[in-house]
Amino acid sequence: MYIEEIELKNFRNYEKLNIKLSKKINIFYGDNAQGKTNLLEAIYFMAIGRSYRTSNDKELIKFDKKISSVSTIINDNEIKDKVEIIISDSKNKRILLNGLGIKKLGELLGSLLIVSFSPEDLQLIKQGPGERRRFIDIEICQISKVYYYELKRYNHVLKQRNKLLKRIKSNNKLKDTLFAFDMQLINHGKKIMNYRESYVKELNNFARDVQKKLTKDKEELEIKYKGFVTEEKYEEKMEKSLEKDIMFGNTSVGIHKDDINFFINGIDVKKYGSQGQQRTALLSTKLAQIEIIKKNKHTMPILLLDDVLSELDNKRQKFLIENISDIQTIITSTGLDDFILNFKDEYSLFFIENGTIEITK
Ligand code: ATP
Ligand code: MG
Repeated sequence: MYIEEIELKNFRNYEKLNIKLSKKINIFYGDNAQGKTNLLEAIYFMAIGRSYRTSNDKELIKFDKKISSVSTIINDNEIKDKVEIIISDSKNKRILLNGLGIKKLGELLGSLLIVSFSPEDLQLIKQGPGERRRFIDIEICQISKVYYYELKRYNHVLKQRNKLLKRIKSNNKLKDTLFAFDMQLINHGKKIMNYRESYVKELNNFARDVQKKLTKDKEELEIKYKGFVTEEKYEEKMEKSLEKDIMFGNTSVGIHKDDINFFINGIDVKKYGSQGQQRTALLSTKLAQIEIIKKNKHTMPILLLDDVLSELDNKRQKFLIENISDIQTIITSTGLDDFILNFKDEYSLFFIENGTIEITK
């Protein structure tokens, strides 16, 4: 799929923007703080239904305005879809798909498939498990609505269980009511585990191949799902931690503690990996994400590269560019560095200044 057109109204520092994109490479360049990331954020927002920079949608509305809207026309094999989101400072956001309001975010997911790569992602391996969970959750949600709903229900029950745990501490009689929550958590938790396990397996298969190519067979990358509990021991572990959970008013066991680990030639990248190895592993992971979307959704995702080319050396830049020739790519950059030479001549160029965009090639 590819984006034909984007329209922003009062979104971040854009008052009014309407641009048409090329099917292939789109490079947006401009100084710092002109609106490059804001544009990618708008695309991400339309794909995932929320921003990766803030959980408060109201921050997306241009300062001193009350309402903002973003919309895009997506072409998938000559079938066009329009996604539109209206953000208001007084109401919940409204999402429209081809003009019709949708009630659940799950209905939006999959309409606009993206893979995004920014310098912050380069930290993924070294960050805490929460970031890595968020990363796989978003990826699986893009390819499976069922997963999205399972996760949503799990998180809802988890919140209720935690509330109940706090009440049990002062009123032990309520303990009997926990059972129903535990059953639900375990039920959703096991399904989520299975999805995560098979996603990471697939990710590993593709990423391993890429890493091999990137390092001329020198590095064997392995991405492993590290479930906090196993399916067999789920009930038992929850039961064992019950008293502790009541004491702390918090659920200590479950898929909300899962993680994924990266190894290169058997060595834990989080602990021992060099900067370069992390970068290569991340690049391999991003290219693997693209392959997974292609395989599962039978279409190409749109690749968003926020100022990331300058973070990669020439060899990795070249490799990335060679591997994205068939997908729509939206790149931001502060300057037109040497990387542009790697694109030969097949790109559109846009200049961003203070929330306005001018096409220059
Ligand atoms: P860099 O090269 O430093 O990454 P950038 O071009 O990616 O810069 P953005 O993050 O897209 O910059 O835009 C930042 C600008 O947008 C800042 O000047 C900020 O004040 C402005 N901005 C952010 N949110 C809003 C908002 N809600 N209303 C108006 N302006 C906003
Ligand atoms: Mg930026």
